[in-house]
Amino acid sequence: MRYNNLSSYLKTRYGGKIGKICIDGGFSCPNRDGKCGTGGCIFCGERGSGEHIDGRKPIREQVEDALARSRSDGYIAYFQNFTNTYADASTLRSRYDEALYDARIVALAIGTRPDCIDEEIAELIASYRDRLDVWVELGLQSASDTTAELINRGYKTEVYLKAADILTRHGIPHVTHIIIGLPGEGRDEVLNTVEVINSTHPFGVKIHSLYVMKGTSLAEMYLKNLYTPPTLSEFVSLTADVIERIRPDTVIHRLTGDCPDGLLLAPEWNRDKNAVLAAIRQELEKRKTEQGKLYRPHS
Ligand code: SF4
Repeated sequence: MRYNNLSSYLKTRYGGKIGKICIDGGFSCPNRDGKCGTGGCIFCGERGSGEHIDGRKPIREQVEDALARSRSDGYIAYFQNFTNTYADASTLRSRYDEALYDARIVALAIGTRPDCIDEEIAELIASYRDRLDVWVELGLQSASDTTAELINRGYKTEVYLKAADILTRHGIPHVTHIIIGLPGEGRDEVLNTVEVINSTHPFGVKIHSLYVMKGTSLAEMYLKNLYTPPTLSEFVSLTADVIERIRPDTVIHRLTGDCPDGLLLAPEWNRDKNAVLAAIRQELEKRKTEQGKLYRPHS
């Protein structure tokens, strides 16, 4: 394998098959409820980046259903929808605890916005480390503040750097999400984003391909011809460029985006995830390259 992929990492770490339980913890998002914005990020759907999760059920029921459906040796409880540190510490604790009732859960992963990480929340999250592995997933998408405005992200990149620092000081690994294909972004912007995230020494990176989902602001832009998604070959080439520059010790948790059936407007190639992954692997083979081959420590 030419990159550190998550399944190999999990197999080495836990010695068996590890599944993921995606959870809607019933949180909101400050970029939707008016605290820092109302429209949300332009690509985000009604379900706050977790369209496939039935968040009407209590957290424990969501976990029970997932455990009943799966045959893995262990599980990651992943709080996915919306902003999963957007509440006071006691609310956060009770919601995380509700998910962690089963001893087969070996890790807690918490998806959030960097502006919803502070010392108190980091302390709370760190307190789980004596029970299981924990990491926090930060939705950065791009290190460009110009792009951040264009996509209505609602915070500046320095906020991400601060959140990564707080987490690191509390011994909490972070996984940074980036998106390839954002409006106004080309190769330079994407490679700059990689350099910025490398400087925070992330445990993991999730690379998403930007897809246009029905009902989003991005869909409106797309339908007015104000946004054109990258072609598959552009996406594959840029993804290979990114992999070559990611720190060799960072785990790549994801290499493309998943739009729920029936909600995808574009690009068509996004429908076939296996074909996209195969094309990325072929590109890495063709280049005879691997993760970190062009990594340079941040100056
Ligand atoms: S921060 Fe996350 S949940 Fe909030 S609008 Fe952006 S993508 Fe959606």
